[in-house]
Amino acid sequence: MIVPVGEDAAAGDPHQELHDRLVEAGLLFSTPVQGLYGRSETYQGVVRAIDAMVHRWALELAATTIHVPPVIARSTFDATNYLQSFPDLMGSVHIFRGTDREHAELVRRVEAGGDWQALLEPGEVVLSSAACHALYPMIGGRLPAGGRVFEVSGLCFRHEPSTDPARMQSFGMHEVVFVGDPDGAQRHRDRGLEVALGLLGDLGLEAEPVPANDPFFGRLGTALATSQLEEELKLEAVTPIFAGRDRTAIVSGNCHRDHFAQPFGIESDTGEPAHSACVAFGVDRITIALFARHGLEPASWPDEVTAALFP
Ligand code: ATP
Ligand code: ZN
Ligand code: MG
Repeated sequence: MIVPVGEDAAAGDPHQELHDRLVEAGLLFSTPVQGLYGRSETYQGVVRAIDAMVHRWALELAATTIHVPPVIARSTFDATNYLQSFPDLMGSVHIFRGTDREHAELVRRVEAGGDWQALLEPGEVVLSSAACHALYPMIGGRLPAGGRVFEVSGLCFRHEPSTDPARMQSFGMHEVVFVGDPDGAQRHRDRGLEVALGLLGDLGLEAEPVPANDPFFGRLGTALATSQLEEELKLEAVTPIFAGRDRTAIVSGNCHRDHFAQPFGIESDTGEPAHSACVAFGVDRITIALFARHGLEPASWPDEVTAALFP
């Protein structure tokens, strides 16, 4: 018997297997690039419902809502020191600003299959790696007593191509962010993660908080990851998606200390450097987890889950 290549590839690989089921069900549309998908209306309806759940919580906190673009100012990117820690994940936007003659050369190279990218230059934006990065330069100066809460959502990019449908290159992130004094930031992170676990429970997803670290790059990064873990600056809500594999982080709660507030001159009401903390919902990941947990047809999901999602 001749086994078609597609089926063979999925055999024994749970990531590929779920990927193939989502694509065959018409929920995701694959592209020539791993981790880059079109979404069906059914899929996106679930994303919107999760966004609405997070929004309802943000309203309780009197958050200011900001929908951010998928790109951020290069100056913002530089100020967040992202390159020092995660050079392998970032993506930069390049643009053409040449003359007529250079355009002719550009076209010649495209048609010859040559290196036309060499004629581009960095644009004033880079792809956004986390929704909350766009926020900090939008907050000017001194904060009111008690700090402020923001709800920030948008598409993020990370260069981490994978057969795992829960690890995309372009994915939605919806964050609830506190900026203010250090205690307030810690409380927001801790309380926010509890709220998140409650919401995930309402969706029928078993999730547990575990200390985590960001994937800091290189040898120097190992020390950064260790101290982040030891100080419990990052907690992730993890849920089983693939039997026998590591659980998947679907929400993270992060204490940034003054990492973001300091470069943007954000101060607490007393004039101290502000602290920030975010609770970041991976809305695509939660959606994938729901399809993996409850099946590929939302119409047949348990009533409690449907009621929580579509109140
Ligand atoms: P992981 O450890 O799985 O790489 P992370 O620590 O990089 O996750 P965060 O930086 O905390 O994740 O991002 C916040 C949330 O965004 C994560 O909890 C997850 O739900 C989601 N997320 C992160 N990376 C991806 C991705 N490549 N595809 C889809 N969702 C993602
Ligand atoms: Zn964040
Ligand atoms: Mg990651």
